[in-house]
Amino acid sequence: MTNSHPADAAIQRLLEGNQRYRSGQAAHPHANAERRSEIAHGQQPFAIILGCVDSRVPPEMVFDCGLGDLFVIRSAGQALDAAVLGSLEFGVAELHIPLLVVLGHEKCGAVIATIEALEQHAQAEGSIQALVEAIRPAVEQAHTQGGPLLESAVQANILLDIAALKKSPVLAEAMHKDELKIVGAHYSLASGRVEILA
Ligand SMILES: [Zn+2]
Repeated sequence: MTNSHPADAAIQRLLEGNQRYRSGQAAHPHANAERRSEIAHGQQPFAIILGCVDSRVPPEMVFDCGLGDLFVIRSAGQALDAAVLGSLEFGVAELHIPLLVVLGHEKCGAVIATIEALEQHAQAEGSIQALVEAIRPAVEQAHTQGGPLLESAVQANILLDIAALKKSPVLAEAMHKDELKIVGAHYSLASGRVEILA
């Protein structure tokens, strides 16, 4: 066990925090003034979370973590753009965080909006169209897979995010050096449960 990857311990820590959260036993760690001053001179978060902006899925609460624990990037439907990708790369290259979790969730509004825009052959308003374009491949893939369209698209969106991240030279190099693991995860709104995807 001494050779286990730091990402494995990080996943374990996230899942234990999620277990506390969903069972009503949240410890709300690292939320006091002592922790604040402890990390004032530097941060060493143990996981990067790429999540959705949805107000029902705040990573620090979902994983029962506190100040300095998580390096969080959120965009609607975890859509990737240069700023999101650059933020993720910063977490890996500069802060050497060993785990990157792509956290999708049940009934994601950004995925729903993309499905609707594609069905209606409509342009979304303003820059929302950029989100539609980013999430479109997941919806198209879900159409070919069958099953409930929304949940298939949510899953596909997580997996396509991961595939895209692996094309980043910065992230790929860290993975090649065994300094980074990228995993997908799915959050269920009602139960509060996070499941790690294979
Ligand atoms: Zn969402």
